[in-house]
Amino acid sequence: HLVLDSLSADYGRDPVLSDVGLSVERGEIVSIIGPSGSGKSTLLRVLVGLLRPRAGSVAVAGTPVDYRSDAALRKVRERFAIVFQQYNLFQNMTALRNVTVAPTVVKRRPAGEVEAEARALLAKVGLSHRVDAYPDELSGGQQQRVAIARALALKPDILLLDEVTSALDPELVSEVLDTIRLLAADGMTMLIVSHEMAFVREISSKVVFMADGRVVETGPPAQIFDAPQTERCADFVRRIL
Ligand code: ATP
Ligand code: MG
Repeated sequence: HLVLDSLSADYGRDPVLSDVGLSVERGEIVSIIGPSGSGKSTLLRVLVGLLRPRAGSVAVAGTPVDYRSDAALRKVRERFAIVFQQYNLFQNMTALRNVTVAPTVVKRRPAGEVEAEARALLAKVGLSHRVDAYPDELSGGQQQRVAIARALALKPDILLLDEVTSALDPELVSEVLDTIRLLAADGMTMLIVSHEMAFVREISSKVVFMADGRVVETGPPAQIFDAPQTERCADFVRRIL
């Protein structure tokens, strides 16, 4: 469904991604793990068009993604939705408005239809009772679930999650992980960057271990966590588990 081939990127100087290849099948959940600075967030930034790749290619559903023109970039953004560690909700809008604003204002879809979908999405993430709350009236976990609902409102082909639980108090992590489990059960295709190794192991069909901007090892969770094939991955896993 999503295929990256020999992708390279940088912020103007040293290469940050080198020759990255990976694939995500429709309905599959692929997790990226690796040390801080290994390029995980950069990879997601490239996919959503926040950073242009230096070389290599990305294809979604067999169609190459063109990152060069602005018009093409708008199309890219319709395929991917991303949720970051910091929820970045619009503080002056209710939860419901946060979810409806892009579909109505950017995509110009009918307000009534969008609102019905937004209410259903907020119910899905367990927030039907808080649709009229403003972000500062919500817990971090609730805000992050609004952010996930907002991403889903754009009906992405693939949902990208970058450390979505890292900024949360420990007791709020599980509610967000439960939401992701629910999306997984729905068959949502996801590319997840996470430090929650138990969760990665449980939910992923495939785990990609990155170091120094390269994919070092890819395999099912049982391989990556129990029988890594590379010294680098074994070393990382030994240290974090
Ligand atoms: P972490 O686990 O800490 O989130 P990461 O794997 O997501 O790390 P990236 O954020 O992708 O790592 O960073 C990869 C490399 O790119 C690092 O060396 C980082 O310093 C560098 N980098 C990241 N963002 C920028 C930027 N805006 N400008 C210049 N260099 C950057
Ligand atoms: Mg990161």
